[in-house]
Amino acid sequence: MKLRFLGATGTVTGSRYLLSDDKHRLLVDCGMYQGVKNLRRRNWAAFPVDPSTINAVVLTHAHIDHSGYLPALVKNGFKGKIYCTKATYELCEVLLPDAGFLQEEEAKYAYRKKYSKHEKPEPLFTEKDARKALEQFEPLHYHKPFEPAKGMQVTFTPAGHILGSSCVHVSEASTGRTVVFSGDVGRQKDIIMRSPEPIHSANVLVCESTYGDRLHEDSDPEQTLSEIISRTAGRGGIVLIPAFAVGRAQMLLYVIHKIMADGKIPKLPVFLNSPMAIKATEIFCRHNKEHKLSIAQCELIDRNTEFVRTVEESIRLGAVRYPCVIISASGMASGGRVLHHLKTLLPNPRNSIVFAGFQAPGTRGDALVNGAESVKIHGEYWPVKADIHNLDSLSAHGDYNEILTWLEQGTVQPEKVFVTHGEPVASDLMRRRIQERFGWQATVPDLFEEVEI
Ligand SMILES: [Zn+2]
Repeated sequence: MKLRFLGATGTVTGSRYLLSDDKHRLLVDCGMYQGVKNLRRRNWAAFPVDPSTINAVVLTHAHIDHSGYLPALVKNGFKGKIYCTKATYELCEVLLPDAGFLQEEEAKYAYRKKYSKHEKPEPLFTEKDARKALEQFEPLHYHKPFEPAKGMQVTFTPAGHILGSSCVHVSEASTGRTVVFSGDVGRQKDIIMRSPEPIHSANVLVCESTYGDRLHEDSDPEQTLSEIISRTAGRGGIVLIPAFAVGRAQMLLYVIHKIMADGKIPKLPVFLNSPMAIKATEIFCRHNKEHKLSIAQCELIDRNTEFVRTVEESIRLGAVRYPCVIISASGMASGGRVLHHLKTLLPNPRNSIVFAGFQAPGTRGDALVNGAESVKIHGEYWPVKADIHNLDSLSAHGDYNEILTWLEQGTVQPEKVFVTHGEPVASDLMRRRIQERFGWQATVPDLFEEVEI
């Protein structure tokens, strides 16, 4: 079997790995590039292999940087099945059409503002393309082996990152050799997700390294959030939390309602302003066996959150001036309804903006947590006067210690480890740490590099 790295090398987005033997091609993850323009431009390059020659796709999880290119792959001729867990499928049902809709909006905007070099800018894919891709999905269970391409057996195990997330184990029938893709690895002690299941067998491991160069703060997120919310409400301000619609939004809702019920913050309205996050919350609560929250805890979220669905409701919320908490997507403030809230809330020192996870270089979130004095939103610069916090202890990615602990918990002894899904320094440090701790041969692959498994 050969493994070729088609993305997530030197960056945290665009996860795509191609496994092939003489007759078959299996793609593991099919993500979109996000972040700085040079990376986003890669979404527009022709796919490095003809999509019609790929037999099947297997997904580690639903996040767009792992699934978002699928509609384009289907549009360009991919006819096979897309395998993932049931929850990943349900989340993709929400995320992919939305990504298509955003692509269409962006193309229309570029046409109106004439900033595209094309006469009539086209979207990368449309909402309709996304719905067509969804027809090729085949949801499956954890721990149940299946054969997406002849001679390649695949199993999902829980990765603890978001609902439905998995490590993908691929075994070659003829040799018995196994390659494991970590996908995004969750926390050892996440508030809502169970810790990632240890892996016990792999000849080759492909391991993420988002936090290869950093440890999460050891602060208690309940305590920190209580302080920020109480202080902000005390001066009559609003707390805005840009959150990833899938995963962090649900965790934040749970924590905020818990500290409110415990009397650690004053009683104040909590708004969830993101149709996508609202749907993801419903899916999360439906799959209550796959995470730590009980039905009662999910009901607490449902009962006490004000769900902002329509554009009109969102505009009305934008005019609110009394203390409240607003959770809105996207998590790195790169798009979505959170931008409208930022425009009204950033210029006022009474308010607080709380980021809750990894901020990719080049995003507004990254600029804000690094102390930008102003940020550009919808073509205009907005002064940053509000308090900016980065509650990185709420991240859904394990830091390097947590990943090393996860590897240590298993009985795995890979001959080779390929470190991906990180900025260059993070991946290189993760590589060294794996090598030093376990003595395994670890490398950081280049884009389009191909290796023999
Ligand atoms: Zn992810």
